[in-house]
Amino acid sequence: MDGLMQPRPLTIAHLFERAETLFADKHVIDADGTPTSYGAWAHRARRLTSALTALDVAPGARVATLAANHRRHLEVYAAVPISKRVLHTLNVRLPAEHLVHIIEHAGDDVVFLDRRHLPLIATCLDRLPGVRHWVVFPDGTDHALPDARFHHYEDLITAARAFEGSFEATFSGPEENLAAGLCYTSGTTGRPKGVLYSHRSTVLHCLGTMAAGLIGISERDVVLPVVPMFHANAWGLPYGALMAGADLVLPGPSADRVHLADLIARHRVTVAAAVPTVWTDLLPALENRDCSSLRLLLGGGSAVTPQLSAAYEAAVGVPITHSWGMTEVSPVGAIGGLRSRHDDLDDDARRHVAAAQGRPAPLVNVRIMDVETGERLPHDGRSVGELQVAGPWVAGGYFAGEGADGFTADGWLHTGDLATVDEHGYLRLVDRIKDLIKSGGEWISSVELEAAIATHPDVEQVAVVARDHPRWVERPVAFVVLRADSDTAVEQLREHLSRRIASWWMPDDFIVLDTIPLTGTGKLFKQALRESLRPA
Ligand code: ADP
Repeated sequence: MDGLMQPRPLTIAHLFERAETLFADKHVIDADGTPTSYGAWAHRARRLTSALTALDVAPGARVATLAANHRRHLEVYAAVPISKRVLHTLNVRLPAEHLVHIIEHAGDDVVFLDRRHLPLIATCLDRLPGVRHWVVFPDGTDHALPDARFHHYEDLITAARAFEGSFEATFSGPEENLAAGLCYTSGTTGRPKGVLYSHRSTVLHCLGTMAAGLIGISERDVVLPVVPMFHANAWGLPYGALMAGADLVLPGPSADRVHLADLIARHRVTVAAAVPTVWTDLLPALENRDCSSLRLLLGGGSAVTPQLSAAYEAAVGVPITHSWGMTEVSPVGAIGGLRSRHDDLDDDARRHVAAAQGRPAPLVNVRIMDVETGERLPHDGRSVGELQVAGPWVAGGYFAGEGADGFTADGWLHTGDLATVDEHGYLRLVDRIKDLIKSGGEWISSVELEAAIATHPDVEQVAVVARDHPRWVERPVAFVVLRADSDTAVEQLREHLSRRIASWWMPDDFIVLDTIPLTGTGKLFKQALRESLRPA
């Protein structure tokens, strides 16, 4: 017997109309501090839907953005999916060849872009005949546009009349499965592949990850996604803030630490999210500022070291909480943090639990599988296997039918991560399978070795990668960035480390760098480091 409840669709249109009506008085705040009420913002997004229709952009068409985090970008974030087009967020740090490939592969019809990307686009325009319209966000300067395919964003908004009806009412029940967003994996482990989110998956991700005890955003929060809106939808925070009616602070293109610290202090930010490399850089700028408003700092994309989290706890009173996810998981699959049963643990034991990637969000199932035998492993906190996930906001395939080998025969996603899961469901990542170092038939976890090296007070950043070795197959090599005033020698690092690791884990070399190269999403670019070690 079926239940008798209404088969109403789960849509981003609902989140939009909720923010527009219930929270019209709340604000999205731009990098320069300008607040725009959700009421005014929503009105402009309504005009934008009509502008897209005037440009003849069909339902289902891919509408891309190449833009920083700002309120106009948020207008596109809403207008595109609520009018049944597909929002494709492009990584602004990609070189021209990658952009061309991804724009073509996605079949983008329109691209909205920040003015500062015009010179880059000019270099590849002739290779992108499929894009019919380029819409340029203003940057306060007067400038001419290259040709008739280009439009000024504000001209389009001014010329359009706001659609007056309910967007939600235009969706039938089954249309909750329409594509709403497209995001390419950053390709650090292969060719980029498109993940196609639906309205339903986006809404469930929002509900599931914003639950209390996880990210738990409420109307009282002021949310700062430092993580770019192109990086897996800024981890769901923009839609989460709209749903909850929280104020949203959008930091613009600059990741300058003083700028970010100013935003936190000035707008009394409560929740902020960034990759660990950004948190490392930001910390010195937060000292001596009023950060008393902060309640949750999220770190994800790669492992946050316990040292970094502890340094935040000491400096601003809040540790960094892990958010584990992938583009394929919308992206959040698990959130760190402690349970009531951990209250009586001593500081070290609590920090150990807090360093885990955390518990799966509701509706997300996880399992670990033996990499060699494919057998399911017990959740005992010790057995290490490949993490596989399943759930209503986990990809079930890739755009244009690619990457079928990313899924198991029974439909689970291969994450490529090695992890343990304990009896309470806490996930702890050991490493990415491709980053493990195979030395003499034994595995060395680059993540654990990095955490051990990071315990040295003069180490600011560290990345450990494998170098080919004639006898041991691979051996670890550590790249380190030392603090500016440090005169620590490599011998002292070795000495420090020798007390913390098995002797065969000792890196063959320590290479001191001024900076470690980063990927387009701000992660340590281990592939480039590995390549730099290969003989020419
Ligand atoms: P890419 O795979 O190209 O780096 P993603 O941003 O989708 O693109 O990265 C997903 C991967 O990032 C995960 O498979 C995992 O290895 C890593 N990751 C994400 N969150 C965390 C975290 N909290 N701790 C450790 N690693 C993480």
